[in-house]
Amino acid sequence: MKNEFDIVIVGAGISGSTLAERFASVFRKRVLLIEKRNHIGGNCYDFLNEAGVLVPKYGPHFFHTNDEKVWNYVNSFSDWIPYEHRVLSSVDEKLVPVPVNITTVNELLGINLGTENEMEVWLSKNVERFDNPKNSEESALARIGEYLYEKMFKNYTKKQWDMWPSELDPEVMDRIPVRKNFDDRYFTDKYQAMPKDGYTKLFERMINNKNIEVRLNSDWDDVKNHPIVYEKLFFTGPIDQFFHYKFGEKLQYRSLRFEFETLDMEYFQRTAQINYPSLDVPYTRITEPKHATGQKCSKTTIIKEYSTWTGEPYYPVPTSRNKELYLKYKKEAESLEREGIYFVGRLANYKYFNMDQAFRNALDLFERINQ
Ligand code: UDP
Repeated sequence: MKNEFDIVIVGAGISGSTLAERFASVFRKRVLLIEKRNHIGGNCYDFLNEAGVLVPKYGPHFFHTNDEKVWNYVNSFSDWIPYEHRVLSSVDEKLVPVPVNITTVNELLGINLGTENEMEVWLSKNVERFDNPKNSEESALARIGEYLYEKMFKNYTKKQWDMWPSELDPEVMDRIPVRKNFDDRYFTDKYQAMPKDGYTKLFERMINNKNIEVRLNSDWDDVKNHPIVYEKLFFTGPIDQFFHYKFGEKLQYRSLRFEFETLDMEYFQRTAQINYPSLDVPYTRITEPKHATGQKCSKTTIIKEYSTWTGEPYYPVPTSRNKELYLKYKKEAESLEREGIYFVGRLANYKYFNMDQAFRNALDLFERINQ
């Protein structure tokens, strides 16, 4: 059978779009990009809603990186506007900064720490010592102590993951640093920005190439029943789906449900994101994209996020059960590389990648294959 395409890619998110763009523009390969949803861009997809507000369909994505290579790459498809993300947490009827910094401690405890040194002393009196934290609870207690952990992290994590931090590997909580100064930015990376015209436009520009054919509303399971001959296949969906759950149980993915509300006011809240750690509030956070996109308009849209077990897969759940199961699939996946089949991205690698890591992994894979 004649090769209609050189490259088949399943999933038009960051990983799939990056590989499509690279193969089509660097090697002029004929690429088929298959996407289950009715749009490209994966979870970064955004659109103008009925009120003209640019909203992210799957919750906001704040781009940040120290990786020059990734930064140069994304800049070749869009202008970027600087945006430093700041998050507040609603605790005891106060709004305090996350990650924990001096202001967080001062406002919650009504004290007046003024220097890095004083913060260090406060922390050293409050943290618990674990040589090697074995779960997210121990890792939080070791870094911020019981008081802040109870108020800001324990219940939020339970709502987000439906598991207590003690049931999750340390890497979940290790994503959140602790600041000994007054820096209230969520990230400290060198580059922090949003694509000027939104993420969807960025992805459109990446894959707008006559060598790339995009097939929306196409599930891989349907497509593969009509044999396509290809040189290489890249799969970016859940790895266990590819193997038809052959090891019995499914890998767990935590999902999100979003409630959008458009309000007749310029801004609803002070920052792009306010977290609600209380178990009495059903959602985990309220985001307001306009703060990040910089869009000027008279209305605003807010998004309430609820965590669920049903729906689109978002977050791999880092427990030992899932990691062991994933390793079995990984072994199978590696053996397929000989046949030109590769697994890439957050879902296929079962890893909690940030956006820049997802770009980097796809770029690295492209180089590894073609060296
Ligand atoms: N987290 C928390 N309280 C907060 C913010 C985060 O307990 O106010 C915990 C929670 O378990 C969360 C994890 O830290 O899943 C990582 O947070 P991050 O903001 O990186 O999550 P994401 O934005 O990727 O959902």
